[in-house]
Amino acid sequence: MLNGTTAEIREREALRINPAKTCQPIGAMYAALGVHGCMPHSHGSQGCCAYHRSHLTRQYKEPVVATTSSFTEGASVFGGLANLTTALENIFTIYDPEIVAVHTTCLSEVIGDDIPLIIKKAREGGKIPEGKTVIHCNTPSFVGSHVSGFAAQCAAFVSYLAESSGQTRNVVNIFPGFVDPSDMREIKRLAQMVGVEYIMAPDASDVLDSPYDGKYHMYPDGGTKVADLKAMGDSFLTVGLGPLASTPAAELLEKKCQVPSKVLELPIGVGATDAYVDALRLAGDTAVPQELERERGRLIDMISDMSQYFHQKKVAIFGDPDHLTSLVGFLVEIGMEPTVVITGTPGKKWERKMKEIVPNAEVRAFSDIHFLHQYIKANPVDLLMGNTYGKLVARAENVPFVRFGFPILDRVGHRAFPLVGYAGAMRLVEQITNAMFDKRDREDAEEDLELVL
Ligand code: SF4
Repeated sequence: MLNGTTAEIREREALRINPAKTCQPIGAMYAALGVHGCMPHSHGSQGCCAYHRSHLTRQYKEPVVATTSSFTEGASVFGGLANLTTALENIFTIYDPEIVAVHTTCLSEVIGDDIPLIIKKAREGGKIPEGKTVIHCNTPSFVGSHVSGFAAQCAAFVSYLAESSGQTRNVVNIFPGFVDPSDMREIKRLAQMVGVEYIMAPDASDVLDSPYDGKYHMYPDGGTKVADLKAMGDSFLTVGLGPLASTPAAELLEKKCQVPSKVLELPIGVGATDAYVDALRLAGDTAVPQELERERGRLIDMISDMSQYFHQKKVAIFGDPDHLTSLVGFLVEIGMEPTVVITGTPGKKWERKMKEIVPNAEVRAFSDIHFLHQYIKANPVDLLMGNTYGKLVARAENVPFVRFGFPILDRVGHRAFPLVGYAGAMRLVEQITNAMFDKRDREDAEEDLELVL
């Protein structure tokens, strides 16, 4: 399908071809689903909401609930006050959520709807029942990406809900970053192993990977409780994972409720997981359990067993900034050589950070998969890593491909197996080696074909 791509790179300012990102409300919707009893609400046209829901459904293979203000021509001209007010009344009457998390779309942002004012009027007009909560965040998609939308929703949890009672509790807040429910489960497991009491938000585990029981649950058992979001203001520390996704919420909580914060890279790979485990150990004034040390040891053993296959292998990689920072760090840890690293999310700061990790690589923020394809045509690589859209490039260039990041529409493992933590790094090692071995099994000459590679 992409066989016509040429190796000649022409610099483009105004056009993106196959962007390595998607729009802000998707991230906001995903974060809202990680709150128990929450109905994400898209303030804009039905089309945006349908796209965002279907994208998340395809990623997680679960039904994704969300409502929409259903803008028509009238709302597009006169504003969405009437639509959102009616929507809130209908949502609470029909679907009875604990909380509604409103996010904007391009259209409502261009109109300039004042969402806090609309929510206030709806409450005064009795459209929002007593004891129910409505929060909002602004997520226009002509800026940022799905990751900044996720960050905006997390900051909205803090801005609307976190409270300080004046009594500090021996609890650590964890913002897990834009990762899969399986990763969120692993981030919690590590905190439990180190013996730290925590509140994690959002928490999509047991929401978007809930077990089959033959019944439909509009609000599955999982998700951070609204009471816990409020209690975040009384914790003694916040650990944010992934600077782009978690810094706004962590900093706001520090400002609003004086909870000190520490923002770390996503715990993908050995060093980044060590940093997370160490932060937990220090916070809990506890020791890393032997079981976890042994888990780490098994990962190191696996890396050393396979190191000859990684040594100086060239990797092209694209994805979200927080994912890439840690993943590229891990590839360097295991001896591989990332040669081109791109993200669709804008960010010069991220480019500078990446250059510190891989000074010789071609690093670009606000770029696209078309550029990446052209680059690797001229500079061939041994491995490509990225979301599902990379498979078209991998096929055109016959490069081993490891799916990673968001969205993964055509595989299922990511919803069950984490990529964070030591266990996640083992899975990455497995996926990388298997992808490269599979290519050799397909292409080695008969006389070279080895049972033991
Ligand atoms: S880019 Fe804007 S208009 Fe398009 S789906 Fe996203 S929010 Fe809607």
